[in-house]
Parts: sequence; structure tokens; C-alpha cells
Amino acid sequence: MSTKMEKLYYTTEKIDRNHKRYRVCKNKGNDCFKEEFMAKHGSAKFCTEQCNNKFSNQEKKLFNEGNSIPRTSNIDKLRVLMQNKDLVTFTRKEIDDIGIDLSRHDHRYLDDKRRGSFGIWIGNFNITMRENNEIVIRTKIYTSEK
Ligand SMILES: [Zn+2]
Repeated sequence: MSTKMEKLYYTTEKIDRNHKRYRVCKNKGNDCFKEEFMAKHGSAKFCTEQCNNKFSNQEKKLFNEGNSIPRTSNIDKLRVLMQNKDLVTFTRKEIDDIGIDLSRHDHRYLDDKRRGSFGIWIGNFNITMRENNEIVIRTKIYTSEK
């Protein structure tokens, strides 16, 4: 047993998968201390404070490396990508690398009848695809192109 001081978010009760305080640690698979546990508090998502920290550190690391951020939403990723710009062009690879899932959108429409290409809306972001797999992202405040 570890002698380190760490906050435990589980009780010593027997695991009961039907109980409302039964949890699977959100950090499961990432050097988790107790993957299944009975939570002390209803809001507990991690078995220990250590797991909570490991999970946040891993998210930060993934983000800094520009890899996928599977646990944040498309909208959060788009906000980071756009950095308050109105229009930015990306390659398909850049979009895939940041982990934006273009199949999860709010609305899809026919953007270019001639080419049969579609555009999508994700929150306030309008996403269209040009030739060469170039992806154009605009925010709603972008109104020109007349
Ligand atoms: Zn854990």
C-alpha cells in the first residue's frame, strides 16, 4: 500500500454495480488506482485525487502535442483552432489530428450543387470543403463573400 498522502474518493464498501454510487474511474486505463469503486460523494468521477490529476495532465499533454482531445467537444476544439479569427482554412489532416469529428454536426446542407459538396454547422462554426480536401471554417459573424 502507498503511504503517500492522497485523497481517496471511494469508500471501503463492497463493490455493488447496481448501487447509485457505483463508479468506473474516469481515468481507467491510465495507471488508475481503483478502476471500480463505491463513491464517497455522488459527484465523484475519479477513484482518487491522484487519478483526477493524472487525467488532467494527460489531457493537457495531448492538447499541447496537438493530438486528438477525445474528451472535449468539437466546439471547444474549434474555438481553439479559430483563435477569434473569422475564417481559417485547414487541411483535412489538421482537422483529423486535432480530433474534430465532422460527422457530429448540428446541420448539414448542400453547399455546392455543381460539385455536390456539403457544408455543415457545428455550433457557430460553418465548415465547408473545397477541392484538394481543403477545409474552410467560418464563424457566423463572417458575412461577406458577395
Ligand atoms: Zn482511478
